[in-house]
Amino acid sequence: MSEHPYDPATIAARAAGAQDAATGGVVPGLSLATTYLRAPDYSLVDPANSYGRDDNPTVRQAEEVLRQLENAAATRLFASGMSVAAAVMRAVPNEGRIVLQSGIYHGVTTFARGLAARRGLTLDEVDATNKDALRSACAAPADLVWIEVPSNPWLRVADITRAAEAARRAGAALVVDATAATPILLKPLGLGADLVMHSATKAINGHSDVIAGVLSCACEAHPLWQAVVAERHDAGALLGPFEAWLCLRGMRTLPLRVDRMSATCLDLAQRLSAHPGIEAVLYPGLAGHAGHDVAQRQMSGGFGYLMSILVRGGHAAAAQVASRLQLFARATSLGGPESLVEHRHIIEPQSGIPENLLRFSIGLESPEDLWNDLVRALDAIP
Ligand code: PLP
Repeated sequence: MSEHPYDPATIAARAAGAQDAATGGVVPGLSLATTYLRAPDYSLVDPANSYGRDDNPTVRQAEEVLRQLENAAATRLFASGMSVAAAVMRAVPNEGRIVLQSGIYHGVTTFARGLAARRGLTLDEVDATNKDALRSACAAPADLVWIEVPSNPWLRVADITRAAEAARRAGAALVVDATAATPILLKPLGLGADLVMHSATKAINGHSDVIAGVLSCACEAHPLWQAVVAERHDAGALLGPFEAWLCLRGMRTLPLRVDRMSATCLDLAQRLSAHPGIEAVLYPGLAGHAGHDVAQRQMSGGFGYLMSILVRGGHAAAAQVASRLQLFARATSLGGPESLVEHRHIIEPQSGIPENLLRFSIGLESPEDLWNDLVRALDAIP
């Protein structure tokens, strides 16, 4: 499927060749215009540009980088990761059926439940890492199978090839949220997914200063793709041009950042596994992780920058560790240059997240400094 001769590092560093044709600048310009001129005969001066809610040249440049990184047929940027999820799920017809992986990003689950209740959809939440559960959920017809690989914050790893087969049997489209993997480590379209999405807010932009979402397809003729593209256009969920420009800049270092963040994450996960203050480390790069074999088969170049731990001593111990950390900012989100820690139960107490779970987004700091910070915080638990 790949038509691109270049390695992701080359695609990203060159922003897929985006430059400023008007000035010769090696960095592309930022087109802020909301509306575009027509000639006296009323034809558009540039037929690609008419009105800023329809499309924007800076947004298209960022989309082209992502399209190439994903080996996709087409790519669209949206105003947020959630606006991608919403557009995809709204495309399911009234009284249709969604099979949703359980234990994924709670914002997606909450949206799906609300939509299902309002629109009379059937929503079945299943453990997509359990092949029997997925197969039996897909024995009945469905419109959409939605999985998140690896899942946030459990770091479960569904087998995408198997999920694609199950979805096909159900007559459903398979959509993979690969936010925690990035297109550098995981290419779901090559494994049979129909669509792949990311919260580009995370590692794709990578600097904790843009909210964005991206969706790519294996085939532009796919009815779900057509419906979602129409939804972005008609409902006006396009990403702003400045945000797209920041993504273009951020993505130049995406492969480098992902490589470093994943290597540090694996190193810390391995060392934390041996720490007596920890009950479990949830990270697919660990040989003992339930999803390690699948992750090894379908990811390449690392296992990502997201990791959760279960702290011995329950809620209080986890809260103490989070409060004592100095290099991990206590904040939600993931994928930025700075490492983050989140006591997830405080954020979503209703969803069954263990009270002793801490989720880490590993950034670009020195691994040794991060390790020393973690050990200091863990060793202080009575
Ligand atoms: N998918 C995953 C896996 C996420 O972690 C998030 C946000 O944390 C989203 C989707 C939603 O993305 P956004 O915050 O850009 O709307």
